Amino acid sequence: MDKQRDFVLRTIEERGVKFVRLWFTDVVGTLKSVAIAPAEVEGAFSEGIGFDGSAIEGLTRTYESDLLAHPDPTTFQILPWRGEVDPTARMFCDLTTPDGQPAVADPRNVLKRTLAKAADAGFTFYTHPEVEFYLLKSATPGPDGYEPVDRAGYFDNVPGGTAHDFRRRSVRMLEDLGISVEFSHHEGGPGQNEIDLRYADGLTMADNIMTFRSVVKEVAIEQGVHATFMPKPLYGEPGSGMHTHMSLFEGDTNAFYEEGAEYQLSRTGRRFIAGLLRHANEIAAVTNQFVNSYKRLWGGDEAPSYITWGHNNRSALVRVPMYKPGKSQSARIEHRGIDSAANPYLAYALMLAAGLKGIEEEYELPAEAEDNVWALSASERRALGYKPLPSSLDDAIEHMEESELVAETLGEQVFRYVLSNKRREFEQYRSQVTQFELKHSLDII
Ligand code: GLN
Ligand code: MG
Ligand code: MG
Ligand code: MG
Repeated sequence: MDKQRDFVLRTIEERGVKFVRLWFTDVVGTLKSVAIAPAEVEGAFSEGIGFDGSAIEGLTRTYESDLLAHPDPTTFQILPWRGEVDPTARMFCDLTTPDGQPAVADPRNVLKRTLAKAADAGFTFYTHPEVEFYLLKSATPGPDGYEPVDRAGYFDNVPGGTAHDFRRRSVRMLEDLGISVEFSHHEGGPGQNEIDLRYADGLTMADNIMTFRSVVKEVAIEQGVHATFMPKPLYGEPGSGMHTHMSLFEGDTNAFYEEGAEYQLSRTGRRFIAGLLRHANEIAAVTNQFVNSYKRLWGGDEAPSYITWGHNNRSALVRVPMYKPGKSQSARIEHRGIDSAANPYLAYALMLAAGLKGIEEEYELPAEAEDNVWALSASERRALGYKPLPSSLDDAIEHMEESELVAETLGEQVFRYVLSNKRREFEQYRSQVTQFELKHSLDII
């Protein structure tokens, strides 16, 4: 740790860094930033930087509002984007109370606690996400609503289009920030793009996702377009998911791999999937945290609506990707439910906790869904035991309220905060009189 602190202090000096931004995330998943002068960094390492936590969504109750931000030196990076005339760096922070206890409502701490639980069982958790998002011409709607930057589709090569330049610039910036990118391509919707990050441990990846969102927003501003991670921004077009590939390692061994097993998937892997399925409804208000998330889940276009698993089955909630011979290290499972607007710390904590529960309790994995689940009739689905994901945020809240797993993983305070925050969002939504209702009924009733 001290070596890393020294490295940070030396780099600040050598590179002439003028500002150091301390980053952390609120419960909803909004990135927060406070800039300090280089001279303050040493003190920030030893004592932390104080701030008023009560001003930030979900972080404290007002009577324990003082919090300290402690920068994590391993996350030090110089920010590569526009307007940074004076070199500016950033570090992610852990939050504590003034007496040094981890702040219970710090999402990074929630994930760290869950990773520690995995470590107690002998596991390291690795993930890689495929992040989908839309590029719109502007954040202000035109006469025909929000306009995407192009009319292209899946894997299209758009000559002279914004999308190419956009992805190239974003990938460059991410690499400059130490985040490796595996693939990037145009996605199915007009103006929709996807960038896939190379795997990393769960905590690094949650930090990387927060950085990723900032990079995409910064590049969008630079290029005069608007980027959105909203789960379903355009009616009738695909939503933006954040498919997440996961594996557990025991030392150097991939615990999801077993030579000769069906799909080379080990018993540990099967139980992990069983946990994800059994708790899918309870964790949905976090993996799919907005009213709008449910428009994606129930809007078709390859978003999962039913709690099933399968091999190469794109209607399933969890998929076991094709195994590449000789590559036991990359054997993994893919969660297709989580969307691009989730708080990655909380969502990854809950996905991991659900999987670990499956391992701990030796859950039995139900039969794989072979069919295109959407093409079945409701009674066929019932006969096969395929249960639906929550139909709305309201439904998801009801499932979460009853969940011991979620309460335990998030901790009482975050659990209660998420529930009340989500209830408020749903009540506000429910009370709207929408364009749909007006068009549908105003002059005929
Ligand atoms: N956009 C789809 C979703 O909402 C996924 C499409 C794909 O990557 N195959 O999950
Ligand atoms: Mg993909
Ligand atoms: Mg995709
Ligand atoms: Mg995928």
